[in-house]
Amino acid sequence: MSQAESLHSDDDNDQAQPPSLEEEQYDPDADDADEKWVAKKRHGRPSDAILSCPACFTTVTIDCQQHAVYSNQFRSVFVMNCHVDTTTTVPVGGGSRNSSHGKRRRGGEVQQQEEPVELMHPVSCDVCGTELGMRDDEDVYHFLHCLASNA
Ligand SMILES: [Zn+2]
Repeated sequence: MSQAESLHSDDDNDQAQPPSLEEEQYDPDADDADEKWVAKKRHGRPSDAILSCPACFTTVTIDCQQHAVYSNQFRSVFVMNCHVDTTTTVPVGGGSRNSSHGKRRRGGEVQQQEEPVELMHPVSCDVCGTELGMRDDEDVYHFLHCLASNA
């Protein structure tokens, strides 16, 4: 006794679909220079500025992000010519650190708990010792006193 059920698939939805006219038409002859410029500007995480020591003009980072609110503050994880004084901790209280990752969901789970005091280490210029900012415990440098020039 074979219970072979012949499932014959109705494969007849032959809706004749016209080729989509809404496809973005990419013109390969578009302005090439312009595209390169955009690609350069948007390469990965774009840098907002080049930061330099305000005293001796030594470059301390070429890859940083400007603070969303405080235009004279920058964050970076790629630094040079500066060092962290890990023997000194600076308590930074309940600050405005809420721009940590840019976007934040609207109406989402915005946890408004009191931000604990964060301990940061001062960052100083390797060359002249001028204090440039602080590094937090996630190895993010916060430059507060640097000269910013366009990248
Ligand atoms: Zn310096």
